[in-house]
Amino acid sequence: MSNLGKCAKCNKTVYALEGFRFGPPTDQKPVHKGCFKCSAPDCNWQLNVGTYKSYDGKPYCSSHCPTMPRGGDATQAAATKAEMNFVPPGQGH
Ligand SMILES: [Zn+2]
Ligand SMILES: [Zn+2]
Repeated sequence: MSNLGKCAKCNKTVYALEGFRFGPPTDQKPVHKGCFKCSAPDCNWQLNVGTYKSYDGKPYCSSHCPTMPRGGDATQAAATKAEMNFVPPGQGH
């Protein structure tokens, strides 16, 4: 039986029938089907290959995927957010 490598979650061998690989084509990580859950500590949402988000080699559900790149530009992200919340004078209530 072919094995895909060590599970990204539990670090045990993943055999072809037990799981699959996920992630960007250049950096695919094997994972058991049952281990393919959101990596947020309080979530454990069972993911599926169509809807998961991959971040830093770990799967997340869409609401927990950290959107900030590692060591990324938090200032710029904050600025963008402020822009989005900006209401031009004379509009709205
Ligand atoms: Zn596993
Ligand atoms: Zn989650």
